[in-house]
Amino acid sequence: MIVLFGRGRKTREIARSGRRRCPHCGNRVPFILHELQDKFNLFLIPVFTYRKQYFLGCSICNAGFELSEADKEEFMRGEKL
Ligand SMILES: [Zn+2]
Repeated sequence: MIVLFGRGRKTREIARSGRRRCPHCGNRVPFILHELQDKFNLFLIPVFTYRKQYFLGCSICNAGFELSEADKEEFMRGEKL
């Protein structure tokens, strides 16, 4: 019997902020919070997620900044980072 397994990556947008100044391009734009999930696949079907990362990205220049789980929770509550 052959067992096919591997890894996959999925990214999804989970929130948007109000306008903030981007430290990379200098524009005041909405930032987008992305969740990146690394998954273990069995027979090409995602079985479980073994890692999650959060990135805050500028909607103009796409510069990204990694957030910790605590920073992500603050962002979701609308608190200033
Ligand atoms: Zn930017």
